[in-house]
Amino acid sequence: MTTRSGLLATLAALSALATPAMAQSNTVNIYSYRQPELIAPVLDAFTAETGIETQVLNLSDGLLERMQAEGANSPADVILTVDIGRLVGVKDGGVTQPVDSEIIDENIPAQYRDSEDHWFALTMRGRVVYASKERVAQDEITYAELADPKWAGRICTRSGQHSYNIGLFASIIAHEGEEAAEAWLRGLKANLARPPAGNDRAQAQGIYSGECDLAIGNTYYVGLMLTNEENPEQKDWAAAMKVLFPNANDRGTHVNISGMAMAKNAPNRENALKLMEFLSSGEAQEIYAKEVFEYPLKDGTEPSDIVKSFGEINPDTLPLEEIATYRSTASQLVDAVDFDG
Ligand code: FE
Repeated sequence: MTTRSGLLATLAALSALATPAMAQSNTVNIYSYRQPELIAPVLDAFTAETGIETQVLNLSDGLLERMQAEGANSPADVILTVDIGRLVGVKDGGVTQPVDSEIIDENIPAQYRDSEDHWFALTMRGRVVYASKERVAQDEITYAELADPKWAGRICTRSGQHSYNIGLFASIIAHEGEEAAEAWLRGLKANLARPPAGNDRAQAQGIYSGECDLAIGNTYYVGLMLTNEENPEQKDWAAAMKVLFPNANDRGTHVNISGMAMAKNAPNRENALKLMEFLSSGEAQEIYAKEVFEYPLKDGTEPSDIVKSFGEINPDTLPLEEIATYRSTASQLVDAVDFDG
């Protein structure tokens, strides 16, 4: 069957298969970069409260490109993702719409949402310093100190171009200016124990193995490692380190976020708004945050006991939207100092 109509019928059947049940009226369709098992509990709570079913399309990359290609026919209602870079990216890519909701504005502090209401954070994570319990006596640190020659050959990190580090470096530029940030980045590079490689957990492993004494990593990985039954060796990696919150006593620790946005052409707009308002609630933030070892944002909410055991986080108060404007400069600096080389 190679006739045109036959081909079209086949394509139609294929696309129906690819997006099962995605545009029915009692549903809300979610395009997600977050792992399905992590968001299931909070989505189940939403369905229990509202009767609205959720359909999740899980993506590991290409969300923006997919939505741009789908255009006005996109079945997506709500986007769930992590990282300020991706949230700004979907807004700048033209696939979101503003959401004017008093409920969301009350639940999410202003520094964690877009000033034009295109994206909203749901939880945050700190970009902290993992320090060897055995070989690092101090319990306080600043980001500036990571460039101090006293740490020569003792620090591990993943690639400077990874979005988590770009966010951190962008925050350094926002606070101290480009020139100071470049000098700092050179100093940090000079202190590395090995060329940047691997993920945040691999840096914790480096502390455990004795290759490094300090590492840069996100808070939630510590919780994920401490409770990892599938790879129990990671419990040892996490047990070998303590969490230091950089700049706890002055400007605060750099944080990044998980967040949400409404799709530009959301076919189920009312349900999407209900879901976003539900996700912004303190109750939903706590369910979600505890599942992924992150911090809920609403006043009066609490993270999991494991996360609390790291100590208090004092987050940098600079709006993430402002920090994000320095992301491309940060990326250029990483190249300029040959950080990963
Ligand atoms: Fe991560």
